[in-house]
Amino acid sequence: MDLDVLRNRNGWREAVSTEGRHIPSSTRDSLGGPGTRTSTSPRVDTRMRALRRRRVDVQSMLSPYRRLVSRIENDPQFLRSTVQAGFALLCVWIGVEFHLFVKWGMSHGVEPFFSRPPGVEGFLPISALMSLTYWFQTGVINEIHPSGLFIFVAILAIGILLKKAFCSWLCPVGTLSEALWMFGQKLFGRNINVPRWLDYPLRSLKYLLLLFFVSSIIMMDVSALREFIYSPYNKMADVKMYLFFANISSVALWIILILAALSVVIKNFWCRYLCPYGALLGSLSWLSPLKITRQQSTCTKCELCTKACPSAIKVHRAKRVWSDECVSCLRCVAACPVDKTLEMSTRSSGKPVPGWVFGGLVVGVFVGLTGLAMLTGHWRNSISREEYARRFKQIDSPLYHHARGQTPPYGPDD
Ligand code: SF4
Ligand code: SF4
Repeated sequence: MDLDVLRNRNGWREAVSTEGRHIPSSTRDSLGGPGTRTSTSPRVDTRMRALRRRRVDVQSMLSPYRRLVSRIENDPQFLRSTVQAGFALLCVWIGVEFHLFVKWGMSHGVEPFFSRPPGVEGFLPISALMSLTYWFQTGVINEIHPSGLFIFVAILAIGILLKKAFCSWLCPVGTLSEALWMFGQKLFGRNINVPRWLDYPLRSLKYLLLLFFVSSIIMMDVSALREFIYSPYNKMADVKMYLFFANISSVALWIILILAALSVVIKNFWCRYLCPYGALLGSLSWLSPLKITRQQSTCTKCELCTKACPSAIKVHRAKRVWSDECVSCLRCVAACPVDKTLEMSTRSSGKPVPGWVFGGLVVGVFVGLTGLAMLTGHWRNSISREEYARRFKQIDSPLYHHARGQTPPYGPDD
């Protein structure tokens, strides 16, 4: 889209976008009035150009370092993709390390020993929610999955401060979902827009799942929480999760394949409709002081922001985007062609937060809180190599079968 100045029937100049949408009168006023004589208005052209967002010509920079810094500063989507790729690689690394650890355990010590990566506890959100509830009720940070608790707290802190930025900047499932719908867009030329009458009820599904998990955990008293947290089942929950995927049943595999296929044609299908984590972060996002904010005075209503939004939010109609579906991806900001019109900003100061600062905050909060766990000795759990060796031998016993939400009974020696 480009802003243009066209002559109208009466011989007056009027500002319109190339998509044919009129620039609002307030903007036209700021450009020198609703109509300006063609012959006497070179000022209009100059001012219109001044409204355009300036694009930095990164390619013309000779130094690769300057090019990189300039891209990070001026292209939030480049920064976001880099952060996403970095975090996905970190998850792959954790996965490989954990695979080698389980291989050692399942071979009963025949394979070489690899220590268990604590980051794997980030994939145990229900256990982390129990740890958080237990921490609130007793003040004790349990030593079974302490890193899971700190990762969970870091994600909640991002939700409170920076909306659902975790989903679009860090979450590996969010990154995969985004890659799938972009692939679908390339393949079919577009993604399917789910009609509103179906979209709303589907979106409520993730909140129902969240309600189920939160209400079940909140109803547990301290002794029930302690019983679960220190149970053999919870101690080996990460290994059980690994074995679930390593020996996946055909039903589970079909479900995953269907979800992946739906994610190719519908943007962020899993995240938008089913992820309870997303529902939790969406609820917290209301508290965030930062929101996508649109300057109505300069907005041309070109709708490029709305077209760019993967969450189907009508950005061009909102003054501030309050939607719980906004994942803070900044795609709308990047799409807006008018300078200082669409920005992530606080209401109080109204000062825009540049993309690179926003990305730095997302990474900073996460690294800061997980780093705090490492510095305070709450990163590695207290289960020794010998205990793991013993538990791997029992992994198929009923002690490690979690049926219908019931923790299997266990004694002091288990
Ligand atoms: S409103 Fe903007 S930041 Fe929020 S999801 Fe849509 S494109 Fe991303
Ligand atoms: S805020 Fe949206 S509708 Fe307004 S000018 Fe920017 S992209 Fe166009």
